[in-house]
Amino acid sequence: MHRILSGIQPSGSLHIGHLVGALDNFALLQGRGEAFYMIADWHALTSKYENVGEIWPATLELTATYLAAGLDPAQSTLFVQSLVKEHAELHLLFSMMTPLSWLERVPTYKEKLQNAAADLGSYGFLGYPLLQTADIVLYKAHKVPVGEDQLFHLELAREVVRRFHFLYQCEVFPEPEAVLTKTPKVPGLDGRKMSKSYGNCIYLRDTNTEILEKCTRQMASDPARVRKTDPGNPDICPVMDFHKLFSDEATVQMVDTECRRAGIGCFDCKKRVAEAITRRIEPVREKIEAHLAQPAHLEDVLRDGSARARTVAAATLAEVREAMKMPA
Ligand code: SF4
Repeated sequence: MHRILSGIQPSGSLHIGHLVGALDNFALLQGRGEAFYMIADWHALTSKYENVGEIWPATLELTATYLAAGLDPAQSTLFVQSLVKEHAELHLLFSMMTPLSWLERVPTYKEKLQNAAADLGSYGFLGYPLLQTADIVLYKAHKVPVGEDQLFHLELAREVVRRFHFLYQCEVFPEPEAVLTKTPKVPGLDGRKMSKSYGNCIYLRDTNTEILEKCTRQMASDPARVRKTDPGNPDICPVMDFHKLFSDEATVQMVDTECRRAGIGCFDCKKRVAEAITRRIEPVREKIEAHLAQPAHLEDVLRDGSARARTVAAATLAEVREAMKMPA
């Protein structure tokens, strides 16, 4: 059976882009292979090393969100990265045999270094794609649900696997393959990529009122449509992107037609999109809150899952140590 691994950093509330871009995909894949979904708390340390007190509450919130999005601990192993110490050992071993230039050329490295609020000029931040490699191959994962911005990291993982096999004349790991989500990228309220750092998100825990206000007051629309009587162009309007993701087909068709002939105003259009987003999010939000009210249960899910993950990780690491002629 194929193994699937993916994960998210516990660095604050998730937004609707995470839901339709990652979590829906996670839930879809859990019945199609042996799925491992990680809470990447060591990765969160790359930017939260000064605010470590935020990581555990965020870990519980992410666990509640995983469950609310349909991940079932009986079908998927939900675990915390730092509770499986084998990730750190394999990362260290890979760090000895990976050329520095492979990490320095990762496109997101320089970009994030320049744009992040926290100082990311650390040894750990340079190495985080290698820690991701260890995360994936420790479970011998064949399939990795990722966004397009992670494709380079996956290629790095494949290169590291090939180098390991070449150096130690063994075949321990499968070369992992990306599973891209079929959902188009969710734009932010300002039309750029939805991202916490841009302050343009609709969060899964936003109230219905907050969603309505964000959509009607902050969501960008066709800038050329100044008056209600001007025809608009839904092909370039970010509101239409949200309709395509959250509204039913009849509404999408209606907006497409009426916008072009100024038959619907932008406020009304945004109100309808807010209602569609609310319909999708409200049940998820209610489940998140219900799970968060039971922190002991969330901890149990994580401790059980992490123990299961550790068994698989320890077996792989035993093969690695043997290949590298290390004592058992
Ligand atoms: Fe955009 Fe809707 Fe206004 Fe058309 S009516 S420009 S799709 S917000």
